[in-house]
Amino acid sequence: MNDSRAEPEPFRYDAEVDPGEKRHVRYGVGETYLGDPIRIPVTVINGEGGGPTVFFSAGIHGDELNGVKVVQEIADRYEPGELHGTLVCLHACNVPAFEAQQRYTPIYDQDMNRSFPGREGANTTERMAHEIYRRFVSPCDLGLDFHTSTRNRTTIYHARADLEDPDVSRLARAFATNVVLYGEGDAGSLRSVATADGIPTVTVEMGRAHRFQRTLIEKALEGVESVLAEYGVLPDEPVHWPGWYESTAADATKRWLRADAGGLVEMEWGPYPLVHEDDPICTVTNHFKTEERVVRAPFDGLILGALENPVAAPGHPLCHLLGLDRETKREIEREIDRGEFDGYRAHGDAWADD
Ligand SMILES: [Zn+2]
Repeated sequence: MNDSRAEPEPFRYDAEVDPGEKRHVRYGVGETYLGDPIRIPVTVINGEGGGPTVFFSAGIHGDELNGVKVVQEIADRYEPGELHGTLVCLHACNVPAFEAQQRYTPIYDQDMNRSFPGREGANTTERMAHEIYRRFVSPCDLGLDFHTSTRNRTTIYHARADLEDPDVSRLARAFATNVVLYGEGDAGSLRSVATADGIPTVTVEMGRAHRFQRTLIEKALEGVESVLAEYGVLPDEPVHWPGWYESTAADATKRWLRADAGGLVEMEWGPYPLVHEDDPICTVTNHFKTEERVVRAPFDGLILGALENPVAAPGHPLCHLLGLDRETKREIEREIDRGEFDGYRAHGDAWADD
């Protein structure tokens, strides 16, 4: 990896962005039925100082908008004069899905985050993935890919990273979320493919689809600044420490509390995601309300994710609970007192902050 004492170099895709230059491009990655180009907005900011090349991607799922706002802000706020290295901002990767405001590529229902590194001459989604990957991701040294939770579930703000890879672990630490779910990631995801190619990549999961959630967007921008500090792109900025830190396996099927009977689910936890042993998390009732089961926290923990769609069949996951040690629990209680979790579960239904 380049270090911040390195000589600045042009960023090459199939054109060049010189050191000291900031360029907004619309880059063709495919074609519509009408024969018009499908073009993705890309901003390249090449610093006056040499250093690593970092990508930021959003909109691989077209309805996941918090990251789109984060990438827009990154592209706006940094200028070449302050950077030792290059930023590559991929504003909305799956353009047809973004236009349709849906998760997958329209008509074909293809998942771009299972399509990397893509293939020339393949279907629309793989072609787009191929162009994005070879032109803009493969020249990079590291990257962050922004997502939100999928429908019917809520998820706490967290990073996903292969923490067994020391380069990825460094990046995840620098991004400084409180929670990291670790694992290699799915085949064909940008994170797993880029990481396997020697480009450490972390996925950021932030809030809900179809929203801008300002608190989360600000947190992510702080995380980006911390990453740029860690790698010397912004040599004068401090690297953040999140205050408390927990990591757990992403393959957490065993850590979800599950319904043992079907019915209507009402969440009882909140407004904060911290629960104490024996606190009620939710109740499951049958339609006659003649049977009611209260699901209680088996231990002190942090609710990482919860069912949003309020119906369940036996075995359905209700809540993903992470056990906490006493010290971490105290730190989270202090953050709650300071108001840092206010609005996290507004209106009793979601991790929404607006
Ligand atoms: Zn996503």
